[in-house]
Amino acid sequence: MSQIRTLEALEGYLDLTADEKAWREDSSTVPLAITEHYMSLIDKEDSSDPLRRQVVPSSVENHSAVWEDMDPLAEEAHSVNHRLVHRYRNRVAFLVTDICPMYCRHCFRRRFTGTMQGPASLREIEESAGYVASHCEVKEILLTGGDVLTLSDSSLSNLISIFRKARPDLIIRLCTRYPVSDPKRIDNELIRVLKSFDSAPIYVMTQFNHPRELCDESKIAISRFLSAGFSVFNQSVLLRNVNDDPEVLAKLFEGLLAVGVKPYYLFQGDLVSGTSDFRVPLEKGIEIFRQLSELVSGLALPVYAIDLPNGGGKVTIGTGDLSKDPSGEFWQIRTPDGKCVKYPAI
Ligand SMILES: *Cc1c(COP(=O)(O)O)cnc(C)c1O
Ligand code: SF4
Repeated sequence: MSQIRTLEALEGYLDLTADEKAWREDSSTVPLAITEHYMSLIDKEDSSDPLRRQVVPSSVENHSAVWEDMDPLAEEAHSVNHRLVHRYRNRVAFLVTDICPMYCRHCFRRRFTGTMQGPASLREIEESAGYVASHCEVKEILLTGGDVLTLSDSSLSNLISIFRKARPDLIIRLCTRYPVSDPKRIDNELIRVLKSFDSAPIYVMTQFNHPRELCDESKIAISRFLSAGFSVFNQSVLLRNVNDDPEVLAKLFEGLLAVGVKPYYLFQGDLVSGTSDFRVPLEKGIEIFRQLSELVSGLALPVYAIDLPNGGGKVTIGTGDLSKDPSGEFWQIRTPDGKCVKYPAI
């Protein structure tokens, strides 16, 4: 796989704007890397192309707003060790690696992503497997990072074997943006490796943010997972001037549903350093989601959620506003189209 890793190399593909040229890598940015595959999807003539915005850095990233933070979800405070985050009672996140084939400018885990630490060591994997073995309340593990599929098939296989040996029943979520960044990574050998771990399900969690990312090669990658029996879910991030439009999101979620992927989350942008340019005000997000809910089916509609700052956790934002009638006898529920309907409070 070839990548574009410097501004100089990038200039061979795109006419960079002054803001893009002025970007500097610093401790609060993620590195520059764009896969050839993703570059081929970018509209080279459009400096505000929604795909370009996700991967081409700009100097706006070098400025953080006062309410932004490197670790807004307080993952470090919930860490069992450097790689294992236990924030919710019955599930843990294991940071397999900090490396990605392509870095998203909106990445929320920038305290860790692209810090060049590489894959977890055998000691870290074994220690984490020991932790889940002695915590039976943990039912699921998210293998995340970074991008898990930067590991070779054999390293991935070793990692999964260690966790599954400790806990054969452990449900695995494989979190990867490879179906978007480099879909050819999902080949028959990878599928063969994953299929060998059949003592409990493996779910694939991916991140499509724009309908143009769902190209023919991505669809092939998805169909490989699906035909091998792995369910595929999508987590999108609501991003200003990328997908902050109900029609664009409807096209994305209907496109995913049509190839068998269930839209799972639509995340409000986390308050992470250097990402203000991507943030959609919550009020606008709520309105976009309300309109979206009228455009697509329940199956195509993800859950709209905020991961609250200071480690407040994930909170879902619904379409119906709910309050008790002053008498206390009824709930008053506002419908997406603005009506107020009563439901008995018994
Ligand atoms: C989001 C998240 C999870 C998974 O939460 P779900 O709502 O079950 O998808 C698990 N651990 C951490 C640290 C998370 O941020
Ligand atoms: S693929 Fe995920 S971890 Fe990697 S840069 Fe993008 S959002 Fe961050």
